[in-house]
Amino acid sequence: IPLERYRNFCIVAHIDHGKSTLSDRLLEHTGTIVAGDGNKQVLDKLDVERERGITVKAQTCTMIYKHKEDGLDYLLHLVDTPGHVDFRAEVTRSYSSCSGALLLVDASQGVQAQTVANFYLAFAQGLSLVPVVNKIDMASADVPRVLEQLETVFELDTSTAVKVSAKTGQGVGEILPAVIKKMPAPVGDAKKPLRMLLVDSWYDTFKGVVLLVRLFDGTLKQGDKVYSYATGNEYIVGEVGIQYPDAVPQKVLRAGQVGYVFFNPGMKRIQDAKLGDTFTNVGCEDIVEPCPGFEEPKPMVFVAAFPTNQDDYGRLADSISHLVLNDRSVTLQKDYSEALGAGWRLGFLGSLHCSVFQDRLRQEHGASIIITEPAVPTKIVWSTGQEEIVTNPAEFPDPDDHRIRSATLYEPFVNATVTLPEEYVGRCIEICENARGVQKSLEFFTATQVILKYELPAASLVDDLFGKLKGATKGYATLDYEDAGWRQAQLVKLNLLVNKKAVDAVARIVHVSQVERLGRQWVTKFKEHVDRQMFEVIIQAAAGRRIVARETIKPFRKDVLAKLHASDITRRRKLLEKQKAGRKRLRAVGNVIIDQSAFQKFLSK
Ligand code: GDP
Ligand code: MG
Repeated sequence: IPLERYRNFCIVAHIDHGKSTLSDRLLEHTGTIVAGDGNKQVLDKLDVERERGITVKAQTCTMIYKHKEDGLDYLLHLVDTPGHVDFRAEVTRSYSSCSGALLLVDASQGVQAQTVANFYLAFAQGLSLVPVVNKIDMASADVPRVLEQLETVFELDTSTAVKVSAKTGQGVGEILPAVIKKMPAPVGDAKKPLRMLLVDSWYDTFKGVVLLVRLFDGTLKQGDKVYSYATGNEYIVGEVGIQYPDAVPQKVLRAGQVGYVFFNPGMKRIQDAKLGDTFTNVGCEDIVEPCPGFEEPKPMVFVAAFPTNQDDYGRLADSISHLVLNDRSVTLQKDYSEALGAGWRLGFLGSLHCSVFQDRLRQEHGASIIITEPAVPTKIVWSTGQEEIVTNPAEFPDPDDHRIRSATLYEPFVNATVTLPEEYVGRCIEICENARGVQKSLEFFTATQVILKYELPAASLVDDLFGKLKGATKGYATLDYEDAGWRQAQLVKLNLLVNKKAVDAVARIVHVSQVERLGRQWVTKFKEHVDRQMFEVIIQAAAGRRIVARETIKPFRKDVLAKLHASDITRRRKLLEKQKAGRKRLRAVGNVIIDQSAFQKFLSK
């Protein structure tokens, strides 16, 4: 098939507007998969994605389509994109491998936050857009309203909009002819040296590191020697192919195509696959201009994970590294906590990304893992002008450190876009203001729909701002955000003290306005989970040196102790043995012995 009959496109949509369902219909329509029992969602390959209905990793699928108008075969690459804001870098990369996009909108919900955000990303990439209104089978569908929104918000000509039901298949047949007509074929020259963009990568047990690539110029086949601009490494191509929808090996990939490649010998580490990297033929690195690179994804949310029982360390290490292999946007470091032992510190793109990962770990390890509360990084500018970014609250200088008093602190902010029905505006503004948000604009985009723009501390997203907005709007609010850089803030380290000794794994850096509330919450909750001891245990929350909350756990009563001392020898031995077995799970904070499960319960919501 010649290049003029290639089309690379993706689907731009708000979450749940039917992207996965529509993808399945298109694959069926082209005979790529067999039509069958409804919702297969072929492109959402990871289990978690299916369960949560979100696409985390971009997948691609090639289709061959016989166009009715000219009777010719077309090679169509559908690149699936993650709909969620945490994965913006992946979205941008996917878009840059396409020349067009279907702008998919739910006929009953209309334009929502991620429709807006993703539209602008696609627009900035210069993609040709085909408006598609989905779910027209629903009783609540209001097609004219959606078309009006598309015109007013995006200034799109909607006279050629395609109206479909991805569920019933109605109208789906009109989509691919529109793709062919309205989206340009990729440009590129197969005769030139290779110019190939790395769009995505994953780890396959049999093939090793597999790369999803878009060829802008040149060809790629087995045995070719290629050069990576990002790492300077050279590789020999082991196999090339297309996803159809599973991997189908090909003799050659040509300019314009999207396909997969793996090397032989393979890439050793997935970290060597730098998303956004350009490859060329060995020897051509000085004459070929690499594609514009991408920003490395920046972790914005951090948690630490510890095995409840240190004997589990190895098992947990295996599954964490396995999960990280397949989600390269997670950063991983060893960590050590006095209270919780050896573990790991993990960095994520955002709070959803973090919770998806936590779910996967919990699914595999259940009660045998302790995960600390998510935290955002803090930037410290010392009086010397030197900067430092702290991602682990335990490493944040103590208030006694005289340097911290003369330092300036900054926290990450985001620009948030919220859409919601007008009747809930008051309540949502209140929630955003309580989260220390600063309103930027309030705008009606239809008579009843409002777009609110706020500058918000990224920490508020970790504290489930989205959940609160949804709760206040019967689930109608939608949220999207982007990085807005650092803002100076009055931050303080909040410690949980057990008999005056700080529990390092629990410490958080919080805004001064949150100190009292969170401190009280901590001591109350912690008290519930710590067993009585032989002596009094004092639980305190301290912001710097100031104690903001306190609880006391009374010691055993004298008579209980007496009974214990009086017990016969066998009982005593039994107790000692039991204690030995349990020792691995017990750790000391200062002089207080705390069962690991207490931390687990304390830290689980
Ligand atoms: P995605 O998040 O954009 O990938 O959305 P999904 O494809 O997962 O669809 C979200 C929900 O909408 C699912 O429950 C689908 O079954 C449903 N859905 C998708 N398309 C249609 C449609 O045309 N009509 C109706 N009634 N439901 C649909
Ligand atoms: Mg989906």
